[in-house]
Amino acid sequence: MKQRVLVLNRAWQPVNIVGMRRAINLLFQEHAQVIHADASGHRVMPLAEWLAFSEKHPDPANSIRAVRLAVLAPSVLLLTEYDRLPRREVRFSRRNVYLRDAHRCQYCGRVFEVAELTLDHVVPREKGGKTNWENIVTACSRCNAKKANRLPNLAGMVLRKLPARPKWRAFLTAFAGEEEAAPWLPFIGAPPKDRARADSPQ
Ligand SMILES: [Zn+2]
Repeated sequence: MKQRVLVLNRAWQPVNIVGMRRAINLLFQEHAQVIHADASGHRVMPLAEWLAFSEKHPDPANSIRAVRLAVLAPSVLLLTEYDRLPRREVRFSRRNVYLRDAHRCQYCGRVFEVAELTLDHVVPREKGGKTNWENIVTACSRCNAKKANRLPNLAGMVLRKLPARPKWRAFLTAFAGEEEAAPWLPFIGAPPKDRARADSPQ
């Protein structure tokens, strides 16, 4: 099932990515409406319409139970007020660090499955290293074990790039290749991975 939902402001600009529970809350509080893609384009559906649509097109594998109803999991929400979700900062989390680093170990440079990845404190915690965007990188378990509780240079390892808080726009683009983000593409201005770079709006 889908886990994340893209949220647009009233100008149809992406302002956030929220978990499904938050998305359903926004919908039920009528702070947002669902944007649904069909053959004729994008339809905006308020809660009542989305519930009716969910009933007509049951899809248990892609639904949440809410107030004894099966609600289809939306992909994109449109806020009904401008300022409901003003933050455009990317939340610091394991999954988002992996996304920032494109699932690439920042020491050996190879791409791994999530199960083989770990988070590494560049400056070890014991030496005062913080758990934040600037000190946490994606590392494969092998590199992480090799580095242990040392600074990279003392372990004879080189960081591929200095870690930093990702920019919102670049972060959105990082989702472009993910299956659940396919319905977001018309809104995030990111080309699918198989499309030529020249097509990019940037
Ligand atoms: Zn590695």
